[in-house]
Order: sequence, then structure tokens, then C-alpha cells
Amino acid sequence: MSPTVAVVGGGYAGISVAAQLDDVADVVLVEPRDAFVHSVASLRSLADPAWIDRIFLPYEGLLPRGRVVHDRASRVDHRGTTLASGERIAADYTVLATGSGYPFPAKLAEHESTRAKDRLRAAHRELTASDRVLLLGAGAVGLELAGEIKAAWPQTAVIVVEPGPEILSGAFTAEFRTEVRRQLDALGIELLLDSSLAAEPATEPGTRAPFTAATRDGAQISADIWFRCYGATVNTDYLAEDLAAARGPGGRLAVTPDLRLVGQERVFAVGDAAAVDDSPTAANAHAHADTTAANIRAMIGGGRPSAHTPRPGGIALPLGPDAGASYRPDLGVLGADATADIKGRGMMLDAYRDLLNAVGTGAR
Ligand SMILES: Cc1cc2nc3c(=O)[nH]c(=O)nc-3n(C[C@H](O)[C@H](O)[C@H](O)COP(=O)(O)OP(=O)(O)OC[C@H]3O[C@@H](n4cnc5c(N)ncnc54)[C@H](O)[C@@H]3O)c2cc1C
Repeated sequence: MSPTVAVVGGGYAGISVAAQLDDVADVVLVEPRDAFVHSVASLRSLADPAWIDRIFLPYEGLLPRGRVVHDRASRVDHRGTTLASGERIAADYTVLATGSGYPFPAKLAEHESTRAKDRLRAAHRELTASDRVLLLGAGAVGLELAGEIKAAWPQTAVIVVEPGPEILSGAFTAEFRTEVRRQLDALGIELLLDSSLAAEPATEPGTRAPFTAATRDGAQISADIWFRCYGATVNTDYLAEDLAAARGPGGRLAVTPDLRLVGQERVFAVGDAAAVDDSPTAANAHAHADTTAANIRAMIGGGRPSAHTPRPGGIALPLGPDAGASYRPDLGVLGADATADIKGRGMMLDAYRDLLNAVGTGAR
């Protein structure tokens, strides 16, 4: 009999671990969404509705042997997972891959694709009717969204308000920030650094409803619509007492070097949910998945798990399909053409269509 591996969460890390172990274990992937959401391209799908159908990929082709259970894990302990429906999945190994949430449109809270798509289409219509857009936060999400809006609606004014002294907090070089700022200027995106609103606009984010908001230093900003571009939250609120001690500040899960939950033999944590010394990216989620799948495979065969090697951070930051900048520790700063090749044009979609065997399913 094959051991059972329960993978909790079918995002970037979860689908990768599940697919890699399908030939050696009975894999059960627990995921409440009815389709995989390629959030890396969510901002593009807001600006260009031709992308909306593309970012939702069916799970059906992922596991030739295993199964995908569409439900939320409500309680996970070291022996298995209890679903919101009450069903219990006993497991020999558990992989916690429940990732993170982010305000709309960067990540989508809706579990039904039709509702998520409707929301994206509605926000696109609201943006089309808007002349001035306010974005709160000049991290990667805020800047990528600013670039997407400018590419789709060049006449629309885009104002980005950032409380910090610089764009893109994190371990990026000054050269990278300078190149991004040069392109933001060229696109006519207005950047207000060291500035924050005294209070968030009273209108709903993503809804066209003209407003004027005051900054803490007394300036007035008028816009038709705004989006919150900060506030990632980690999804780890479902752990039973035996696992909950691993939850650290912000909800991320403390892991050993081989990505097992601290104090646990057969429970692993990967992706944005895991407190690994790297940045929360899909690329790193895949790297965690590779290590974890190899470790579980080794343990099933009677071997021992190996340590994960965190990768130095890199980023591809498109500002629309044809602009943007990237940083790679080995190559340094890459400009607009390279960024369009890495992410901006194809939005890394093909790799996920391949992984999910979604080619030819109408997902494109
Ligand atoms: C706009 C945007 C652009 C980005 N661009 C890039 C990029 O270009 N390159 C890059 O490398 N990274 C990028 N990222 C970061 C990347 O999306 C995240 O790092 C990635 O989503 C993390 O993957 P994950 O598998 O850990 O979690 P997630 O992708 O968050 O997936 C977690 C899954 O777990 C499910 N889940 C949650 N709770 C439960 C529960 N209780 N039970 C069962 N399932 C549950 C969720 O429904 C979800 O499907 C981007 C992020 C955003 C928002």
C-alpha cells in the first residue's frame, strides 16, 4: 500500500508538490477553489480582460492517480486533515501549502471562478470609466498595477502614495530602483513617497466613486477609484494544538532546514506560509516544493530528508506588456525587453498550463 500524502492548499507550491509525488504516494490535494488561479497574472487580467479566462486553470489534469478535494481544511493535526464538510483525511505525510491572501485584485478571495471573473470584469469597467486612479503602496504590486493601468489606459492619471522613503522595500539594489523610477517617470506615473493618507477613502476600493482624500501633511488628492496595494496575510489559522506552536509572528510557520514543521516528523510547510529565509514568490514556492517532494520521496523509501538551500532574491517587475525591469543576483538589472520576455508578454502562463495539463482544455 502507498502512503497517503495530504497537500493542504493548491497554489503554486501545493500543485508542484502534489504532482511530483503522484507516482509514489496516494496524494490528496485539498483546495477550496474550483480552479487554480495564476495570481502572478491577476493584474494583467484586470487591465486586459482577454486574460481573465486564461488565469483560471482546471485542476482535473494535475493528478493522474491522486485526487483533488474541493474544500477548506478547517483543522490540521499531525495525523491528518479535517475538512469544513467534516470529512477526515488521515495522512502519513502532510504538506501545508496554504500560502497568503492579498487585497483585490492582486489575489482573489472568491473560490468560485465565475464570481472571481465577474469581479475582475466589473472592476475593469469601473477603471475604463475613471480618469484618475489612486494606488496605496509602492511595492511590487502597486507599481505593477500602475504600469498595467497606464498600458491599458494611457490617458488615465495614476497616483501612487507610499509611506516609505523609497519604492520597493526589500533587498533590491539602488540601480534597480533607479531603473524602475526612470520608467515610472517616462510613463507619467505620479509617485508620492514619504506620504500617507490621514484616512483611507470612504469609498469601496475598486469601485468608481469620485473622492478627495487628505494626506497626513495636508495635501489633497482627488481620484475616481482607488486600490489597496499592501497587506498580505498568511493563511495558517487552521492548525490544531499540536501544530499551532510553529506559528510565528504574522502567521508564518517555523520550519527546520529540511522544511519540516518545527517539532514534527512528517508535517512540512512550503511557499508563502513557511518562514524560510527567502522572499515570498512563486519561484521560491516551487523551490520549496522541489525540496519537500524529494524529502518525502526519500523518507518513503527509508531515507532521510535533506536541507533546503534558500535562493537569493530576484524579481521581474513588468509595467505593462512591454515595459518594466528585472533584477537577478547573477545578472544584475535587466531592462524592459528582457522583462517582457521573462514575464510581461506571456505572464509565465505556459509553465502552469503544462504543470496542470491544462493544454487544450479551453483554458487559453
Ligand atoms: C500580483 C502578484 C504578482 C506576483 N508576481 C510574481 C512573479 O512574477 N513571480 C513570482 O515568483 N511570484 C510572484 N508573486 C508571488 C506569488 O504569487 C506568491 O509567492 C505565491 O502565490 C505563493 O504560492 P503558495 O503556493 O505559497 O500560495 P498561494 O499561491 O497563496 O496558494 C495557496 C492556496 O491555498 C489555498 N488555501 C488557503 N487556505 C486554505 C485552507 N484552509 N484549506 C485548503 N486550502 C487553502 C488557497 O485557496 C490557495 O489556492 C506575485 C504575487 C502577486 C499577488
